Amino acid sequence: MTANVPARFDLGAKPRLGYVASPLDRAAALRGDDAAMRAFDADPRAGGYVIGGELIVLKRDGERCDPLFAPHEARALGALRMAAFLGLIDGTPRFGFGLDPHAVEPLQSRGELKVADLRSIAVTGLVEAAHLPPLAEAKALIGWHARHGFCPNCGAPTQIALAGWRRDCKACGAEHFPRTDPVVIMLAISGERCVLGRSRRFAPTMWSCLAGFCEPGESIEEAVRREVAEEAGIACGKVVYFASQPWPFPSSIMIGCLAEARSENLVIDREELEDARWFTREELALMLKRQHPQGLTTPPPVAIAHHIIRSFVEDGADVLA
Ligand SMILES: [Zn+2]
Repeated sequence: MTANVPARFDLGAKPRLGYVASPLDRAAALRGDDAAMRAFDADPRAGGYVIGGELIVLKRDGERCDPLFAPHEARALGALRMAAFLGLIDGTPRFGFGLDPHAVEPLQSRGELKVADLRSIAVTGLVEAAHLPPLAEAKALIGWHARHGFCPNCGAPTQIALAGWRRDCKACGAEHFPRTDPVVIMLAISGERCVLGRSRRFAPTMWSCLAGFCEPGESIEEAVRREVAEEAGIACGKVVYFASQPWPFPSSIMIGCLAEARSENLVIDREELEDARWFTREELALMLKRQHPQGLTTPPPVAIAHHIIRSFVEDGADVLA
């Protein structure tokens, strides 16, 4: 560590956050227009993302992969369970195609295809970055359908409706809409330091922001304070919003926040976390630049945690202003 801590740390150009800034117009008014949907399906420019469970099917195309399949190409891959209308890009329809997860395995041996999970696609840049937001939309939506085949109201089977944006129960008349689960992800800050934690699921060197689901009847600010208190034993005061990010694993939205830590003594919930500790801005800067002497790292730029940590390194406690 250097003795002179600069007021600002040169971290280079800001990287792009994953899954946000979709180029698609969702064109929600067209979802109930069956004639428009039939025309879109027959449109020779139409393309869609093929998703089977946690896996995405891609076409090999040089160094990168092409994630788009024409509707007839998607149907030729195997048993399609559903198609959802994601929206329009420059007037061209985009779909999400839900493939039976059992139909994905035989595709893995086909040389012209590549099958990968969305996290590795995003982290390795396997497809152009502009595909990540509609891929997130498709994965979260198709995953919701896969888990909602039966009516939560009466237990009868439900049917897909509104081009993939609703499920209807004919037995009790209930209409069910795709859900998104809010998760708070936050950095608790005290002066020049902040708290990071490690889940047992993480790569051995990685440390990240604490995070947890919002509970019913709870505001975002309350969820932030509760999660930091439960996982790390730290009391927090002021909470400020940073940014949000769709996180389709399976259907979350990550709500990024910074919080003012009002206590110092860590009491770690070892059920939730393998470890947690305080980090200085200087140490975080080395982690972001992949120059930490012990090889410690932050999550990659595709994840909002990277951007929350970076904002604290760049602006210090001013991020709470
Ligand atoms: Zn029902």
